[in-house]
Amino acid sequence: MVNIKINNKEVKAEKGTTIFKVCKSIGIELPNFCNDERLNPSGLCRMCLVEIEGSRNLEVGCATIVREGMRIYTHSKKVLQARADILQLMISDHPLECTTCVRTGTCKLQEYTNLYSNHFKSDYENQPKKLDIDESNPFYYYDPNKCILCKKCVRVCEELQEVGAISPVDRGHTTEIAPFFKDKLNDSNCVSCGNCVSVCPVGALVPKNSEFHNTKKTKTTCSYCGVGCQIELLTKEGRVVGSQPVDNEVNDGLLCVKGKFGYKFINHEDRLKKPLIRRNGELEESTWEEAYDYIKSKYDDIKHEYGSESMAGLSSARCTNEENYLFQKMMRAVIGSNHVDHCARL
Ligand code: SF4
Ligand code: SF4
Ligand code: SF4
Repeated sequence: MVNIKINNKEVKAEKGTTIFKVCKSIGIELPNFCNDERLNPSGLCRMCLVEIEGSRNLEVGCATIVREGMRIYTHSKKVLQARADILQLMISDHPLECTTCVRTGTCKLQEYTNLYSNHFKSDYENQPKKLDIDESNPFYYYDPNKCILCKKCVRVCEELQEVGAISPVDRGHTTEIAPFFKDKLNDSNCVSCGNCVSVCPVGALVPKNSEFHNTKKTKTTCSYCGVGCQIELLTKEGRVVGSQPVDNEVNDGLLCVKGKFGYKFINHEDRLKKPLIRRNGELEESTWEEAYDYIKSKYDDIKHEYGSESMAGLSSARCTNEENYLFQKMMRAVIGSNHVDHCARL
């Protein structure tokens, strides 16, 4: 353990821990765009700068390890001014269109601008970038004009998804995130998992046809496969308008393309809401009671004529473990057949 002081408060911190993590453990959240505990620290966005007594320069909290006797100031005048300057530089080439931006209300650049604008200086001019938006991917788009080049998306793709589809290209005012040696995202080796989209702190990587503002979050389990990834479905006026991964031991804050983008079946107009029974060659809507009675009478007929072993049950990876357990129990104990499988092997 090392003994340090943060904002004049004595703290015992574990050796080898970063200032960022120690601050978090005592309830001080340092502002940041690029930090993610699942990734190697990069110190790129520099918003988590802190002042350390005796040090000439400000240090980045996410990449500086605590040392015995350190005296750290997280909100000194110098620190607040440095963060405000960084924000002003970011905004200097950013389009000023928060009111119409899909990320309004959930954007870190907007949030920090509101927090630090008291320290803004007047000598920064706004010259928004005018780069082409890449809409080639079927599920998300990339707007380089709103990108603050924090590289979180690149690191997630490389370190967590292990695809390495994207990288910063070009220099200076025209730097953008793009696929390696390809013009468009859709021509690259991107697998459309959307994990880069989930971590983007601003409106640069955005799911198509999504909404963020005034949405309600509901934690649930992805219904596509047996991994059971935890997701937060974003809903608005009774519609599902987005899906975000939950960071827990099951999926570590990651999703695949289905969990991230495949939620539109929920509100799709073709989705069946009532059971259908085929009568005289035509499918007709029925009540659940009618449908169950019909299924049971068919089961009884087949069982009577051919025996229980003639029947098989096919369940679904979209069901929970508990539902699948009940299903196999019903097949074995009620129907009397061991022929049970589910759609993973269809
Ligand atoms: S990305 Fe953020 S700061 Fe930029 S326009 Fe959208 S809401 Fe505003
Ligand atoms: S969608 Fe997935 S594979 Fe494609 S760039 Fe983003 S993280 Fe990489
Ligand atoms: S697209 Fe988003 S996550 Fe990637 S560098 Fe730009 S701002 Fe950061």
